[in-house]
Amino acid sequence: MQIKILGCGPSYGVPSLSRGYGDCEPSNPKNFRLRSSLLIREQGTNILIDSGPEVRLQLLSAGNPDLKAVLYTHEHYDHMGGADDLRADISEKTGDLPVYMAKTAVPHFKNMLEYLFQPNAHQKSIFDLHIVKPYQKFQIENLEILPIPQKHGESDSMGYRIGNVAYSTDVISMEEKGFEALKGIKVWILGVVTPIKNDKHINLDTALEWIDRIRPERVYLTHMGSRMDYDKLCATLPPHIRPAYDLMEIEV
Ligand SMILES: [Zn+2]
Repeated sequence: MQIKILGCGPSYGVPSLSRGYGDCEPSNPKNFRLRSSLLIREQGTNILIDSGPEVRLQLLSAGNPDLKAVLYTHEHYDHMGGADDLRADISEKTGDLPVYMAKTAVPHFKNMLEYLFQPNAHQKSIFDLHIVKPYQKFQIENLEILPIPQKHGESDSMGYRIGNVAYSTDVISMEEKGFEALKGIKVWILGVVTPIKNDKHINLDTALEWIDRIRPERVYLTHMGSRMDYDKLCATLPPHIRPAYDLMEIEV
């Protein structure tokens, strides 16, 4: 399995319009972060996780792969806001595009693309909606996917375990069952916005506790904000925990 980090930035990106690079060194290109998104490739099957507002540029940078499906972690703009870009050519290339999300995310998706989903829409939706349920495995081609429910402040998000890999971002807490479901993963891509405690995302200390609990072979941090300088993190984190960077490739 190959994983490409299409973006490892927070909701406002790095640099952001309000804070610029913040504590991140601007001369290091690894600190330039688009909104968080991930491409998984296994034997010719490409699965995208999340389509934020920069998804078009991200997919072009990844060679514009034919997508078999899109998994959504949750409905926030930085994860779903670019969905309309996916439909531009896909209906001609591969037919309807299956999109997977929790039931709670569906109304947001449909509202966002209201002009496609209204009863007399002129434009056809190419999205084939599938609802994922907590801990209920499903299959896309030869990939088995396990949705793991998460709390994300007042709202919910979904993490995904795909074989030996898990993607858990925009998470502040999860059930004991969620930690059980993560046992045995080799690679964990984990969202940590900031070292500072906040009410929507785990901070770095909590991430280290969780990593110690799950003990994956390798961890890549994503969804990193402007307090997370790449080189400083590399210098302080244990070698099996690395900050991701945009277009990073991970072999599993
Ligand atoms: Zn986010």
